[in-house]
Amino acid sequence: MGSVLQAEGERILSGGLLLRWGLFTPPKTPAPMRLSQYPINTTRETPAEAEVLSHQLMLRAGLIRREAAGLYSWLPMGLKTLRKAETIIREEMDRAGALELIMPVFQPGELWQESGRWTAYGPELLRVKDRHERDFVAGPTHEEVITDIVRRDIRSYRQLPVNFYQVQTKFRDEIRPRFGVMRAREFIMKDAYSFHVDEASLQQGYQAMHDAYTRIFTRMGLDFRAVRADSGPIGGDVSQEFHVIAASGEDAIVFSDEDGYAANLEAAAALPPRESRPAPREAMSQVPTPGARTIDEVSRLLKVAPSRCVKTLLVEGSDVDVVALVLRGDHDLNAIKAQRLPGVANPFRMAGAERIARATGAEAGFIGPVGLRCPIYADHSALALADFVCGANQKDTHLTGVNWERDVGEVTAADIRNVREGDPSPSGRGRLKIARGIEVGHIFQLGRRYSEPLKATVLDESGREVTLLMGCYGIGVTRVVAAAIEQNHDERGIIWPEPLAPFQVVLVPINLQKSVRVREVADRLYHELTAQGIEVLYDDRDARPGVKFADAELLGIPHRLVVAERGLEAGRLEYRQRRDSESTEFPAGEAVAFIKARLR
Ligand code: ATP
Ligand code: MG
Repeated sequence: MGSVLQAEGERILSGGLLLRWGLFTPPKTPAPMRLSQYPINTTRETPAEAEVLSHQLMLRAGLIRREAAGLYSWLPMGLKTLRKAETIIREEMDRAGALELIMPVFQPGELWQESGRWTAYGPELLRVKDRHERDFVAGPTHEEVITDIVRRDIRSYRQLPVNFYQVQTKFRDEIRPRFGVMRAREFIMKDAYSFHVDEASLQQGYQAMHDAYTRIFTRMGLDFRAVRADSGPIGGDVSQEFHVIAASGEDAIVFSDEDGYAANLEAAAALPPRESRPAPREAMSQVPTPGARTIDEVSRLLKVAPSRCVKTLLVEGSDVDVVALVLRGDHDLNAIKAQRLPGVANPFRMAGAERIARATGAEAGFIGPVGLRCPIYADHSALALADFVCGANQKDTHLTGVNWERDVGEVTAADIRNVREGDPSPSGRGRLKIARGIEVGHIFQLGRRYSEPLKATVLDESGREVTLLMGCYGIGVTRVVAAAIEQNHDERGIIWPEPLAPFQVVLVPINLQKSVRVREVADRLYHELTAQGIEVLYDDRDARPGVKFADAELLGIPHRLVVAERGLEAGRLEYRQRRDSESTEFPAGEAVAFIKARLR
């Protein structure tokens, strides 16, 4: 930048002074790092409103402040970390050849009408009218706007492929904003959109983003995993999520213990059982089961394992009143899979008591597939049962010894259950394990989902008009900061991975206000380390050592340097890494080299 300004030559400034711009470029001043001038407000108490640890710690450390449900301010200390995350993301997006731009937060409603999402997107989409009664949305994502830009500005295959990205505020009116910035209503996303003339180019662009994301989360020092995913309301065919592994994660991640298979539980296929179904042996009979509604209650009463009972769930149909979904008693419904079945309403809704009564004459808890006159989907595992137990469509009654062909008749086999730990991997190798994850990124091959309705086309090599193929790629920038804390903390506070730490080193002088020697050494260290480009937080407050240590640990600064009168007498300083429980001493004269050797 400096050299650009110099090249512009001379300019007259006020007072008639002729200045050469380049000469007067101010030196890069370090941000204020003296804690005495840095208004931080840390607390020992756990804030009552915060359910998860990252949220508690972010509030306690004074990184963020809540303005309203799902709306947060980032205070200076939190913003430093947020900016570090953004910088890593920008560097890797730039390295991958993506071009940064900024699109408006508010978007014209007409674009959403054109794409069909004006009606398809639920109440998460905040719709507003301006003073002329025109419709706008607060952007939850930017596929429509970028496609509009591309359809107007890109004419020829020669200008492709291209990838545009922004780091920008999103708004989603989440039904349950919670966990602080993890599930906020307003949050910062890095979103990128790529455009291609053919499938091969889309694959390449998608892989490039996969690799960039892998570098980004690796550079952030996070333990993460890329998994197959469901595409959700964004649409498209292929998609993968990047998850930070953490016990508190909202998502279940399943992976094979033998190969690289990994998927979100929502998207993990359950293989049909290998064994063929045994022949029927029992006769079907009705048994009274007063008050026994749940599989557990029925199984205990009849002394039959839950895996030999089936549960029948009625859900709203798209063109009929209800559709029945039948699962083995010990399995859970996967609503994402079920929602995709022909005839099942989208969005997915369980049938209410009224619909259930209309379809069965009975109430929830006693429903079963025998004699049911609605479309029936049975999970592969339920279909593998013989002589099973199910509801009788009659209050306080169940059936035993039920068999599919003999007693139920026509049903459609489907995969509608969640996989479980120990299930065979759909990759054909190994068994599935389950961990918890926080979704921090999501990449999609959208195909023509937006380019077709918005008519984004270019002329190809032979002058033919072709509809563009598209990919989109998001990172929850604010969420990733919280996820880093979820993964890296202890009972004393945050333990920042070094690349995300607001400061690398915290300098803690003991008795600074009383000891001239301590002040001399601490001031000198502060200047020497800072001059080396090291980010030092200088705790020059007039506070007790215990307070300074507790704050340094709460704030999670990776390296701590203590200057104390007693150590100085022996010519020594004290060092501790945030993860360690013991300090080490080293010669005071070697401080800069000592610290530099320990920085990443
Ligand atoms: P989720 O399943 O967690 O609701 P999503 O799948 O709807 O997220 P995407 O549309 O894939 O989210 O958005 C890209 C990224 O933006 C997500 O991977 C996530 O990291 C982040 N993100 C999404 N919703 C929020 C939110 N409410 N608060 C903070 N970050 C969010
Ligand atoms: Mg997602």
